Order: sequence, then structure tokens, then C-alpha cells
Amino acid sequence: MTDACIQIDSRQAPRIRWPENRSSALSELVEEKLSARQIAAILGVTRNAVIGRCYRAGLQLQGRPTGNPGVRKRPPVQRQIPVVERPDSLNITFADLSTGQCKYAVTESPPHLFCGHQTAGGSSYCAYHYRLCYRPEDRR
Ligand SMILES: [Zn+2]
Repeated sequence: MTDACIQIDSRQAPRIRWPENRSSALSELVEEKLSARQIAAILGVTRNAVIGRCYRAGLQLQGRPTGNPGVRKRPPVQRQIPVVERPDSLNITFADLSTGQCKYAVTESPPHLFCGHQTAGGSSYCAYHYRLCYRPEDRR
């Protein structure tokens, strides 16, 4: 390990106490509505140190919202699902089904008959039966 890549465990790092004069300067600068970056440059500390100190001291930095920034409501995405008319089944037996024909069983009990219309979107079903079998939420 070289000197350049010494890792500091934050739990073991000593807590740096802010000198009293810096704390009062910080609150004055915050009252002057300077940004964390500007305050950091003046005090000679990092921007994160300023943000952390302000958070612990209960000081409200300019431009930082008080609410929880992690929670943002997005409007729900409205999916447009094309409405497909139900085709009249061609009533094809399994033995007569060929590639590209809808394999949706249209009968309740064996021997089954199948839809037989042209498949859509690389599935085993026509557009109507594909839409019937797969909800849009399944395609995530
Ligand atoms: Zn079908």
C-alpha cells in the first residue's frame, strides 16, 4: 500500500472540533445567505464540512430544502395499450397448428381447439390473446 491510498475508517477518525470563533463565523456567514461552497472557501474547510456543521448546529443553509429530498412524487406513467378486437377463433386442432399461428386454447376441455390467427410480437399468441395473457406490468 502506498502513502497515497491510506484508507481512513470514519468510525476511528477523530472528531474535529470546530473552534468557537469558526462556529460564530459560520453562523454569521449562513445569516448572510452565502452558499456552502462560498462559506467553505472563506473558512478554509470543505463544503461537506460546512454542510455537516450546519446540519448539527441546526443552521439553515441557503438553497437547501428543509423537506426530505429523497422523496419526490412523479406523475404515474400512463401506458397506451392498443385495444384489439377479439378475433373469431379458427378452431384449429393442435395437430394442425403451424408456426406463426396463435396457440391460445379456445375450448374449456380436451380435445382443445386453438385460436389459429397470426401471432404477434414474437409471441405464441395473436395480438388479442397476447394482451389477454400478459398484463403491461409483466413486461418490466
Ligand atoms: Zn389468438
